[in-house]
Amino acid sequence: MDELKGIIRDIPDFPKKGIIFKDITTLLADGKSFHRMIDLIAHRYIGQNIHQVVGIEARGFILGSALAYKLGTGITLVRKAGKLPFRTRRKTYDLEYGTDTLEIHEDAFQAGDKVIVADDLLATGGTMAAVVDLVQELGADIVECAFLAELEFLSGRQRLPDGKVFSLLKF
Ligand code: AMP
Repeated sequence: MDELKGIIRDIPDFPKKGIIFKDITTLLADGKSFHRMIDLIAHRYIGQNIHQVVGIEARGFILGSALAYKLGTGITLVRKAGKLPFRTRRKTYDLEYGTDTLEIHEDAFQAGDKVIVADDLLATGGTMAAVVDLVQELGADIVECAFLAELEFLSGRQRLPDGKVFSLLKF
């Protein structure tokens, strides 16, 4: 794990002063590390009869689609407002400054579908909490929220369903 953590690059003061941005592009670009990351995460869910992986725009699509491929499921996209073409359900949530809106197609799931929701990084948990609401409102059953990395000092997991959060790398 330390090897994978070491490949993620810290970018100070991006996108604004005071934030240390975890740049995962270095890990994604390294074939061996990318493979290892997906195998380690997918391993948790093999044999659990997962119906669908949900990926959050944009880096969650990368993790989510590789996971879905490995698990033999499809991937459902959660996108920024105005990008999905069919009827959607939407959720607006607070950011540090202002708000953001995410959408999902309203026919994404069958009732009781077992899903994994994937994103690259858990920070304050606001993004994933909004997606958890959307997925549950549409009748799916969240098996776990899966992240490549978690910033533990921000306690984001407290905003997410108890015992249903997994992160491969903790910072
Ligand atoms: P949050 O809603 O605070 O949990 O933020 C999660 C989203 O913001 C994730 O999709 C991350 O890609 C991105 N993000 C937040 N903070 C960071 C950070 N320090 N480094 C990299 N990505 C971040």
